[in-house]
Amino acid sequence: MFKKILVANRGEIALRIQRACRELGVKAVMVYSEADKDAKYVKLAEEAVCIGPAASSLSYLNMPAIISAAEVTDAEAIHPGYGFLSENADFAERVEKSGFQFIGPTPDSIRIMGDKVSAKQAMIRAGVPCVPGSEGELPDDPVQIRRIAKSVGYPVIIKAAGGGGGRGMRVVHTEAALINAVQMTKAEAGAAFNNPAVYMEKFLQNPRHIEIQILADKHKNAVYLGERDCSMQRRHQKVIEEAPAPGIPRKLIDKIGERCVAACKKINYRGAGTFEFLYENGEFYFIEMNTRVQVEHPVTEWVTGVDIVKTQIMVAAGEKLPFTQRQIEIRGHAIECRINAEDAFKFTPSPGRVTSWHMPGGPGVRVDSHVYNNYFVPPNYDSMIGKLIVHGDTREQALARMQTALNETVIEGISTNIPLHRELMVDAKFMQGGTNIHYLEHWLSQHKR
Ligand code: ADP
Repeated sequence: MFKKILVANRGEIALRIQRACRELGVKAVMVYSEADKDAKYVKLAEEAVCIGPAASSLSYLNMPAIISAAEVTDAEAIHPGYGFLSENADFAERVEKSGFQFIGPTPDSIRIMGDKVSAKQAMIRAGVPCVPGSEGELPDDPVQIRRIAKSVGYPVIIKAAGGGGGRGMRVVHTEAALINAVQMTKAEAGAAFNNPAVYMEKFLQNPRHIEIQILADKHKNAVYLGERDCSMQRRHQKVIEEAPAPGIPRKLIDKIGERCVAACKKINYRGAGTFEFLYENGEFYFIEMNTRVQVEHPVTEWVTGVDIVKTQIMVAAGEKLPFTQRQIEIRGHAIECRINAEDAFKFTPSPGRVTSWHMPGGPGVRVDSHVYNNYFVPPNYDSMIGKLIVHGDTREQALARMQTALNETVIEGISTNIPLHRELMVDAKFMQGGTNIHYLEHWLSQHKR
Protein backbone atom coordinates (compact mmCIF):
# COMPACT_ATOMS: atom_id res chain seq x y z
CA MET A 1 0.00 0.00 0.00
CA PHE A 2 1.10 3.59 -0.60
CA LYS A 3 2.45 5.58 2.34
CA LYS A 4 1.29 8.89 0.95
CA ILE A 5 -0.93 10.08 -1.88
CA LEU A 6 -1.80 13.51 -3.22
CA VAL A 7 -5.45 14.51 -3.68
CA ALA A 8 -5.71 16.65 -6.82
CA ASN A 9 -9.21 17.99 -6.27
CA ARG A 10 -11.37 20.16 -4.03
CA GLY A 11 -14.72 20.22 -2.26
CA GLU A 12 -16.63 17.22 -1.00
CA ILE A 13 -14.69 14.70 -3.08
CA ALA A 14 -11.35 15.93 -1.66
CA LEU A 15 -12.74 15.30 1.83
CA ARG A 16 -14.13 11.91 0.74
CA ILE A 17 -10.70 10.80 -0.52
CA GLN A 18 -9.01 12.14 2.62
CA ARG A 19 -11.39 10.03 4.74
CA ALA A 20 -10.63 6.91 2.65
CA CYS A 21 -6.90 7.52 3.14
CA ARG A 22 -7.28 7.78 6.91
CA GLU A 23 -9.08 4.43 7.00
CA LEU A 24 -6.32 2.86 4.93
CA GLY A 25 -3.56 4.40 7.06
CA VAL A 26 -2.29 6.34 4.03
CA LYS A 27 -1.19 9.97 4.46
CA ALA A 28 -3.12 12.37 2.22
CA VAL A 29 -1.53 15.53 0.87
CA MET A 30 -4.24 18.06 0.05
CA VAL A 31 -3.78 20.76 -2.59
CA TYR A 32 -5.80 23.96 -2.63
CA SER A 33 -6.27 27.21 -4.49
CA GLU A 34 -6.16 30.55 -2.69
CA ALA A 35 -9.98 30.51 -2.66
CA ASP A 36 -10.00 27.17 -0.77
CA LYS A 37 -7.46 27.86 1.98
CA ASP A 38 -10.21 27.60 4.65
CA ALA A 39 -11.70 24.34 3.40
CA LYS A 40 -12.34 21.71 6.07
CA TYR A 41 -10.05 19.09 4.51
CA VAL A 42 -7.22 21.65 4.31
CA LYS A 43 -7.60 22.45 8.01
CA LEU A 44 -7.70 18.73 8.83
CA ALA A 45 -4.73 17.88 6.62
CA GLU A 46 -1.34 16.86 7.93
CA GLU A 47 0.09 18.38 4.76
CA ALA A 48 -1.46 20.85 2.34
CA VAL A 49 0.06 22.72 -0.60
CA CYS A 50 -1.29 25.88 -2.24
CA ILE A 51 -1.16 25.33 -6.01
CA GLY A 52 -2.28 28.72 -7.27
CA PRO A 53 -4.95 31.38 -7.43
CA ALA A 54 -8.72 30.81 -7.43
CA ALA A 55 -9.14 30.34 -11.22
CA SER A 56 -9.13 26.56 -11.90
CA SER A 57 -7.00 27.04 -15.01
CA LEU A 58 -4.23 28.30 -12.70
CA SER A 59 -4.73 25.80 -9.87
CA TYR A 60 -6.80 22.59 -10.15
CA LEU A 61 -6.05 22.35 -13.90
CA ASN A 62 -2.42 23.38 -13.50
CA MET A 63 -0.53 20.14 -14.21
CA PRO A 64 3.02 21.34 -13.40
CA ALA A 65 1.86 22.84 -10.07
CA ILE A 66 0.14 19.58 -9.06
CA ILE A 67 3.05 17.38 -10.08
CA SER A 68 5.55 19.65 -8.23
CA ALA A 69 3.34 19.45 -5.13
CA ALA A 70 3.59 15.65 -5.32
CA GLU A 71 7.36 15.91 -5.74
CA VAL A 72 8.01 18.23 -2.80
CA THR A 73 5.81 16.17 -0.46
CA ASP A 74 7.14 12.75 -1.57
CA ALA A 75 3.69 11.45 -2.48
CA GLU A 76 3.65 8.17 -4.40
CA ALA A 77 0.32 8.44 -6.18
CA ILE A 78 -2.21 11.05 -7.30
CA HIS A 79 -5.98 10.71 -6.93
CA PRO A 80 -7.73 13.00 -9.44
CA GLY A 81 -11.30 12.79 -8.00
CA TYR A 82 -13.93 13.77 -10.60
CA GLY A 83 -14.04 16.74 -12.98
CA PHE A 84 -10.87 18.86 -13.39
CA LEU A 85 -8.02 16.59 -14.64
CA SER A 86 -9.66 13.26 -13.83
CA GLU A 87 -10.38 12.32 -17.45
CA ASN A 88 -7.40 14.03 -19.02
CA ALA A 89 -5.21 11.35 -20.63
CA ASP A 90 -2.28 13.76 -21.01
CA PHE A 91 -2.35 14.43 -17.27
CA ALA A 92 -2.45 10.73 -16.44
CA GLU A 93 0.53 10.25 -18.76
CA ARG A 94 2.51 13.11 -17.20
CA VAL A 95 1.77 11.77 -13.72
CA GLU A 96 3.12 8.34 -14.64
CA LYS A 97 6.12 9.74 -16.57
CA SER A 98 7.02 11.75 -13.47
CA GLY A 99 7.16 8.51 -11.51
CA PHE A 100 3.82 8.63 -9.68
CA GLN A 101 0.94 6.19 -9.83
CA PHE A 102 -2.21 7.70 -11.35
CA ILE A 103 -5.19 6.44 -9.34
CA GLY A 104 -7.35 5.54 -12.32
CA PRO A 105 -7.10 3.66 -15.61
CA THR A 106 -4.18 3.84 -18.05
CA PRO A 107 -3.80 6.94 -20.24
CA ASP A 108 -4.72 4.76 -23.23
CA SER A 109 -8.04 3.68 -21.68
CA ILE A 110 -8.86 7.31 -20.83
CA ARG A 111 -8.02 8.36 -24.39
CA ILE A 112 -10.18 5.67 -26.03
CA MET A 113 -13.17 6.36 -23.76
CA GLY A 114 -12.73 10.15 -24.01
CA ASP A 115 -13.53 10.01 -27.71
CA LYS A 116 -17.12 8.88 -28.01
CA VAL A 117 -16.65 7.42 -31.48
CA SER A 118 -13.71 5.24 -30.42
CA ALA A 119 -15.48 4.38 -27.15
CA LYS A 120 -18.54 3.17 -29.03
CA GLN A 121 -16.43 1.17 -31.45
CA ALA A 122 -14.62 -0.49 -28.54
CA MET A 123 -17.97 -1.33 -26.92
CA ILE A 124 -19.42 -2.78 -30.12
CA ARG A 125 -16.31 -5.00 -30.42
CA ALA A 126 -16.75 -6.05 -26.78
CA GLY A 127 -20.40 -6.98 -27.30
CA VAL A 128 -21.96 -4.10 -25.33
CA PRO A 129 -25.24 -2.93 -26.94
CA CYS A 130 -25.09 0.64 -28.31
CA VAL A 131 -27.63 3.11 -29.65
CA PRO A 132 -28.08 2.30 -33.38
CA GLY A 133 -26.35 4.89 -35.55
CA SER A 134 -23.49 5.67 -37.92
CA GLU A 135 -20.51 3.36 -37.93
CA GLY A 136 -18.04 5.85 -36.51
CA GLU A 137 -17.54 9.41 -37.69
CA LEU A 138 -19.95 10.84 -40.26
CA PRO A 139 -18.52 11.31 -43.77
CA ASP A 140 -18.60 14.72 -45.53
CA ASP A 141 -20.74 13.61 -48.46
CA PRO A 142 -24.36 14.80 -47.97
CA VAL A 143 -25.71 11.90 -50.03
CA GLN A 144 -24.04 9.40 -47.71
CA ILE A 145 -25.18 11.29 -44.59
CA ARG A 146 -28.79 11.21 -45.81
CA ARG A 147 -28.49 7.52 -46.56
CA ILE A 148 -27.20 6.80 -43.02
CA ALA A 149 -30.00 8.85 -41.42
CA LYS A 150 -32.60 7.05 -43.48
CA SER A 151 -31.33 3.65 -42.39
CA VAL A 152 -31.09 4.73 -38.72
CA GLY A 153 -34.58 6.26 -38.89
CA TYR A 154 -35.70 9.74 -37.77
CA PRO A 155 -35.49 11.40 -35.30
CA VAL A 156 -31.70 11.21 -35.09
CA ILE A 157 -29.22 13.00 -32.86
CA ILE A 158 -25.92 14.41 -34.13
CA LYS A 159 -23.24 14.24 -31.43
CA ALA A 160 -19.68 15.53 -31.19
CA ALA A 161 -17.04 12.80 -30.76
CA GLY A 162 -15.23 15.03 -28.28
CA GLY A 163 -18.37 16.31 -26.54
CA GLY A 164 -19.08 16.31 -22.82
CA GLY A 165 -21.16 17.95 -20.14
CA GLY A 166 -24.29 17.71 -22.26
CA ARG A 167 -22.86 19.99 -24.98
CA GLY A 168 -22.36 19.37 -28.70
CA MET A 169 -25.60 17.57 -29.51
CA ARG A 170 -28.43 18.35 -31.94
CA VAL A 171 -31.68 16.48 -32.56
CA VAL A 172 -32.93 16.25 -36.16
CA HIS A 173 -36.52 15.31 -36.98
CA THR A 174 -36.62 15.60 -40.78
CA GLU A 175 -34.35 15.06 -43.77
CA ALA A 176 -34.76 18.72 -44.73
CA ALA A 177 -33.00 19.82 -41.54
CA LEU A 178 -30.27 17.16 -41.63
CA ILE A 179 -27.30 18.57 -43.54
CA ASN A 180 -27.50 21.99 -41.94
CA ALA A 181 -27.63 20.41 -38.47
CA VAL A 182 -24.58 18.26 -39.20
CA GLN A 183 -22.63 21.29 -40.41
CA MET A 184 -23.58 23.39 -37.41
CA THR A 185 -22.70 20.67 -34.91
CA LYS A 186 -19.35 20.13 -36.68
CA ALA A 187 -18.53 23.84 -36.52
CA GLU A 188 -19.47 24.06 -32.84
CA ALA A 189 -17.56 20.89 -31.98
CA GLY A 190 -14.45 22.20 -33.73
CA ALA A 191 -14.62 25.43 -31.75
CA ALA A 192 -15.59 23.94 -28.37
CA PHE A 193 -13.70 20.63 -28.29
CA ASN A 194 -11.00 21.19 -30.89
CA ASN A 195 -12.36 18.19 -32.76
CA PRO A 196 -14.96 18.63 -35.53
CA ALA A 197 -15.75 14.90 -35.77
CA VAL A 198 -19.45 14.11 -35.30
CA TYR A 199 -21.47 10.90 -35.37
CA MET A 200 -25.14 10.00 -35.58
CA GLU A 201 -27.43 8.05 -33.28
CA LYS A 202 -31.08 7.22 -33.25
CA PHE A 203 -32.75 9.71 -30.90
CA LEU A 204 -34.50 7.74 -28.19
CA GLN A 205 -37.75 9.43 -27.18
CA ASN A 206 -38.35 8.56 -23.54
CA PRO A 207 -35.38 6.71 -22.11
CA ARG A 208 -34.15 6.43 -18.54
CA HIS A 209 -30.49 7.01 -17.65
CA ILE A 210 -29.17 3.82 -16.07
CA GLU A 211 -25.49 3.29 -15.35
CA ILE A 212 -23.38 0.35 -14.24
CA GLN A 213 -20.54 0.81 -11.74
CA ILE A 214 -17.53 -1.39 -12.25
CA LEU A 215 -14.24 -1.93 -10.41
CA ALA A 216 -11.24 -3.69 -11.91
CA ASP A 217 -7.74 -4.53 -10.67
CA LYS A 218 -4.41 -5.03 -12.43
CA HIS A 219 -4.79 -8.83 -12.26
CA LYS A 220 -7.63 -9.16 -14.76
CA ASN A 221 -10.36 -9.26 -12.11
CA ALA A 222 -13.42 -7.08 -12.60
CA VAL A 223 -16.82 -6.87 -10.95
CA TYR A 224 -19.96 -4.80 -11.45
CA LEU A 225 -21.63 -3.25 -8.42
CA GLY A 226 -25.16 -3.10 -9.76
CA GLU A 227 -26.77 -0.07 -11.32
CA ARG A 228 -27.80 3.50 -10.55
CA ASP A 229 -30.79 5.36 -11.92
CA CYS A 230 -29.80 8.95 -12.73
CA SER A 231 -32.81 9.94 -14.81
CA MET A 232 -33.68 12.98 -12.68
CA GLN A 233 -31.68 15.53 -14.68
CA ARG A 234 -31.82 19.19 -15.60
CA ARG A 235 -29.88 20.26 -18.69
CA HIS A 236 -28.22 16.83 -18.75
CA GLN A 237 -26.96 17.43 -15.18
CA LYS A 238 -27.93 14.85 -12.60
CA VAL A 239 -29.92 16.14 -9.61
CA ILE A 240 -31.10 12.96 -7.81
CA GLU A 241 -29.62 9.47 -8.11
CA GLU A 242 -30.70 6.16 -6.67
CA ALA A 243 -29.82 2.49 -6.48
CA PRO A 244 -31.23 0.08 -7.43
CA ALA A 245 -33.22 1.37 -10.44
CA PRO A 246 -36.95 1.03 -9.69
CA GLY A 247 -38.76 -1.63 -11.69
CA ILE A 248 -35.89 -3.03 -13.76
CA PRO A 249 -35.66 -6.83 -13.34
CA ARG A 250 -32.43 -7.99 -11.67
CA LYS A 251 -31.96 -10.50 -14.50
CA LEU A 252 -31.64 -7.67 -17.04
CA ILE A 253 -29.19 -5.77 -14.84
CA ASP A 254 -27.07 -8.88 -14.37
CA LYS A 255 -26.98 -9.49 -18.10
CA ILE A 256 -25.77 -5.97 -18.91
CA GLY A 257 -23.44 -5.97 -15.89
CA GLU A 258 -21.76 -9.13 -17.14
CA ARG A 259 -21.28 -7.50 -20.55
CA CYS A 260 -19.63 -4.50 -18.89
CA VAL A 261 -17.28 -6.75 -16.94
CA ALA A 262 -16.38 -8.66 -20.11
CA ALA A 263 -15.69 -5.34 -21.86
CA CYS A 264 -13.41 -4.24 -18.99
CA LYS A 265 -11.40 -7.42 -19.31
CA LYS A 266 -11.18 -7.04 -23.06
CA ILE A 267 -9.85 -3.48 -22.89
CA ASN A 268 -7.63 -4.21 -19.87
CA TYR A 269 -9.46 -1.64 -17.81
CA ARG A 270 -8.34 -0.97 -14.25
CA GLY A 271 -9.79 1.12 -11.43
CA ALA A 272 -13.34 2.42 -11.04
CA GLY A 273 -15.47 3.17 -14.07
CA THR A 274 -19.07 3.72 -15.10
CA PHE A 275 -20.85 2.52 -18.21
CA GLU A 276 -23.69 4.92 -18.97
CA PHE A 277 -26.75 3.60 -20.79
CA LEU A 278 -30.07 4.85 -22.01
CA TYR A 279 -32.79 2.32 -21.15
CA GLU A 280 -35.99 2.11 -23.14
CA ASN A 281 -38.55 -0.69 -23.60
CA GLY A 282 -36.45 -3.20 -21.72
CA GLU A 283 -33.27 -2.56 -23.76
CA PHE A 284 -29.96 -0.95 -22.77
CA TYR A 285 -28.05 1.32 -25.14
CA PHE A 286 -24.49 2.36 -24.25
CA ILE A 287 -23.82 6.10 -24.59
CA GLU A 288 -20.49 6.68 -22.85
CA MET A 289 -18.03 5.53 -20.23
CA ASN A 290 -16.70 7.64 -17.36
CA THR A 291 -13.21 6.59 -16.38
CA ARG A 292 -13.25 7.96 -12.82
CA VAL A 293 -15.16 7.96 -9.54
CA GLN A 294 -18.55 9.62 -9.93
CA VAL A 295 -20.44 12.11 -7.78
CA GLU A 296 -23.18 9.52 -7.20
CA HIS A 297 -20.88 6.68 -6.04
CA PRO A 298 -22.27 6.71 -2.43
CA VAL A 299 -25.63 5.17 -3.40
CA THR A 300 -23.77 2.15 -4.77
CA GLU A 301 -21.51 2.03 -1.71
CA TRP A 302 -24.54 1.87 0.49
CA VAL A 303 -26.44 -0.89 -1.29
CA THR A 304 -23.33 -3.06 -1.84
CA GLY A 305 -21.26 -2.28 1.27
CA VAL A 306 -18.20 -1.72 -0.96
CA ASP A 307 -16.06 1.36 -0.33
CA ILE A 308 -15.40 2.46 -3.91
CA VAL A 309 -12.81 5.13 -3.10
CA LYS A 310 -10.76 2.86 -0.83
CA THR A 311 -10.89 0.12 -3.46
CA GLN A 312 -9.69 2.57 -6.15
CA ILE A 313 -6.61 3.28 -4.02
CA MET A 314 -6.02 -0.40 -3.22
CA VAL A 315 -6.14 -1.55 -6.83
CA ALA A 316 -3.93 1.36 -7.95
CA ALA A 317 -1.37 0.08 -5.42
CA GLY A 318 -1.50 -3.29 -7.18
CA GLU A 319 -3.73 -5.15 -4.73
CA LYS A 320 -6.31 -7.65 -5.92
CA LEU A 321 -10.01 -6.82 -5.63
CA PRO A 322 -10.93 -8.01 -2.12
CA PHE A 323 -14.24 -9.55 -3.29
CA THR A 324 -15.63 -11.59 -6.15
CA GLN A 325 -18.80 -11.03 -8.14
CA ARG A 326 -20.61 -13.69 -6.12
CA GLN A 327 -20.00 -11.76 -2.93
CA ILE A 328 -21.71 -8.63 -4.29
CA GLU A 329 -25.29 -8.42 -3.05
CA ILE A 330 -27.71 -5.51 -3.39
CA ARG A 331 -29.26 -4.65 -0.02
CA GLY A 332 -32.07 -2.15 0.42
CA HIS A 333 -32.38 1.14 -1.42
CA ALA A 334 -30.29 4.34 -1.45
CA ILE A 335 -31.12 7.82 -2.72
CA GLU A 336 -28.81 10.83 -3.14
CA CYS A 337 -29.80 14.49 -3.42
CA ARG A 338 -27.12 16.84 -4.72
CA ILE A 339 -27.05 20.00 -2.63
CA ASN A 340 -26.27 22.99 -4.84
CA ALA A 341 -25.64 26.59 -3.85
CA GLU A 342 -28.24 28.01 -6.21
CA ASP A 343 -31.78 29.32 -6.25
CA ALA A 344 -34.02 26.25 -5.95
CA PHE A 345 -36.27 27.12 -8.87
CA LYS A 346 -34.42 29.78 -10.90
CA PHE A 347 -31.04 28.01 -10.68
CA THR A 348 -29.01 31.21 -10.38
CA PRO A 349 -25.77 30.45 -8.50
CA SER A 350 -25.66 31.59 -4.89
CA PRO A 351 -22.09 31.63 -3.56
CA GLY A 352 -21.25 33.40 -0.31
CA ARG A 353 -21.00 33.00 3.46
CA VAL A 354 -22.91 30.12 5.05
CA THR A 355 -24.18 31.66 8.29
CA SER A 356 -25.85 28.51 9.54
CA TRP A 357 -25.26 24.86 8.60
CA HIS A 358 -27.23 22.13 10.36
CA MET A 359 -27.14 18.72 8.76
CA PRO A 360 -29.58 15.89 9.46
CA GLY A 361 -28.74 12.60 11.14
CA GLY A 362 -30.29 9.42 12.42
CA PRO A 363 -30.43 5.90 11.01
CA GLY A 364 -29.61 5.58 7.32
CA VAL A 365 -28.42 9.16 6.76
CA ARG A 366 -25.04 10.14 5.27
CA VAL A 367 -23.81 13.64 4.48
CA ASP A 368 -20.76 14.15 2.25
CA SER A 369 -19.82 17.82 2.39
CA HIS A 370 -16.81 19.99 3.12
CA VAL A 371 -19.02 22.88 4.26
CA TYR A 372 -19.33 24.05 7.89
CA ASN A 373 -20.81 26.95 9.83
CA ASN A 374 -19.38 30.26 8.60
CA TYR A 375 -17.73 28.64 5.54
CA PHE A 376 -17.52 30.87 2.47
CA VAL A 377 -18.69 29.18 -0.77
CA PRO A 378 -16.32 30.59 -3.41
CA PRO A 379 -17.92 31.77 -6.67
CA ASN A 380 -15.20 30.17 -8.79
CA TYR A 381 -16.31 26.55 -8.97
CA ASP A 382 -19.22 24.19 -9.51
CA SER A 383 -22.29 25.00 -7.43
CA MET A 384 -22.48 21.57 -5.75
CA ILE A 385 -21.59 21.97 -2.06
CA GLY A 386 -22.50 18.56 -0.75
CA LYS A 387 -24.61 15.45 -1.02
CA LEU A 388 -27.30 14.06 1.21
CA ILE A 389 -27.61 10.29 0.94
CA VAL A 390 -30.09 8.00 2.68
CA HIS A 391 -30.59 4.27 2.84
CA GLY A 392 -33.62 2.18 3.75
CA ASP A 393 -34.65 -1.47 3.62
CA THR A 394 -37.10 -0.51 0.87
CA ARG A 395 -37.47 2.43 -1.51
CA GLU A 396 -40.45 3.63 0.54
CA GLN A 397 -38.34 3.72 3.69
CA ALA A 398 -35.52 5.52 1.86
CA LEU A 399 -38.00 8.13 0.57
CA ALA A 400 -39.40 8.64 4.07
CA ARG A 401 -35.89 9.04 5.48
CA MET A 402 -34.97 11.54 2.77
CA GLN A 403 -38.12 13.55 3.46
CA THR A 404 -37.26 13.71 7.17
CA ALA A 405 -33.59 14.45 6.50
CA LEU A 406 -34.44 17.31 4.11
CA ASN A 407 -36.84 18.77 6.67
CA GLU A 408 -34.13 18.69 9.35
CA THR A 409 -31.60 20.43 7.11
CA VAL A 410 -31.02 24.13 7.80
CA ILE A 411 -28.67 26.12 5.57
CA GLU A 412 -28.67 29.90 5.91
CA GLY A 413 -26.76 32.76 4.30
CA ILE A 414 -26.92 31.29 0.80
CA SER A 415 -29.73 29.82 -1.29
CA THR A 416 -29.75 26.09 -1.95
CA ASN A 417 -31.85 23.64 -3.94
CA ILE A 418 -33.12 21.92 -0.74
CA PRO A 419 -36.66 23.35 -1.33
CA LEU A 420 -36.69 21.70 -4.79
CA HIS A 421 -35.65 18.34 -3.29
CA ARG A 422 -38.36 18.64 -0.62
CA GLU A 423 -41.01 18.99 -3.32
CA LEU A 424 -39.63 16.22 -5.51
CA MET A 425 -39.50 13.74 -2.62
CA VAL A 426 -43.28 14.02 -2.22
CA ASP A 427 -44.09 14.15 -5.94
CA ALA A 428 -46.46 11.30 -6.77
CA LYS A 429 -44.71 10.27 -10.01
CA PHE A 430 -41.24 10.34 -8.51
CA MET A 431 -42.46 8.41 -5.49
CA GLN A 432 -43.86 5.80 -7.84
CA GLY A 433 -40.39 5.43 -9.43
CA GLY A 434 -39.13 4.93 -12.97
CA THR A 435 -39.41 8.49 -14.32
CA ASN A 436 -37.56 9.17 -17.59
CA ILE A 437 -34.81 11.70 -18.42
CA HIS A 438 -37.34 14.41 -19.40
CA TYR A 439 -39.42 14.18 -16.25
CA LEU A 440 -37.66 16.79 -14.12
CA GLU A 441 -37.58 19.46 -16.83
CA HIS A 442 -41.21 18.78 -17.60
CA TRP A 443 -42.05 19.02 -13.88
CA LEU A 444 -40.15 22.32 -13.62
CA SER A 445 -42.04 23.78 -16.58
CA GLN A 446 -45.32 22.89 -14.85
CA HIS A 447 -44.20 24.34 -11.53
CA LYS A 448 -43.09 27.77 -12.75
CA ARG A 449 -43.01 30.40 -10.04
P1 ADP B 1 -22.27 14.06 -22.27
O1 ADP B 1 -20.93 13.41 -22.30
O2 ADP B 1 -22.23 15.44 -22.87
O3 ADP B 1 -22.94 13.98 -20.95
P2 ADP B 1 -23.91 11.81 -23.29
O4 ADP B 1 -23.59 11.06 -24.52
O5 ADP B 1 -23.64 11.14 -21.98
O6 ADP B 1 -23.17 13.25 -23.33
O7 ADP B 1 -25.43 12.27 -23.33
C1 ADP B 1 -25.95 13.14 -22.35
C2 ADP B 1 -27.45 13.09 -22.36
O8 ADP B 1 -27.98 13.44 -23.67
C3 ADP B 1 -28.07 11.73 -22.07
O9 ADP B 1 -28.15 11.47 -20.65
C4 ADP B 1 -29.43 11.89 -22.72
O10 ADP B 1 -30.25 12.71 -21.88
C5 ADP B 1 -29.14 12.68 -23.98
N1 ADP B 1 -28.85 11.79 -25.12
C6 ADP B 1 -27.63 11.42 -25.61
N2 ADP B 1 -27.74 10.56 -26.64
C7 ADP B 1 -29.07 10.36 -26.84
C8 ADP B 1 -29.86 9.58 -27.76
N3 ADP B 1 -29.31 8.80 -28.69
N4 ADP B 1 -31.22 9.63 -27.65
C9 ADP B 1 -31.79 10.40 -26.69
N5 ADP B 1 -31.13 11.16 -25.82
C10 ADP B 1 -29.79 11.16 -25.87
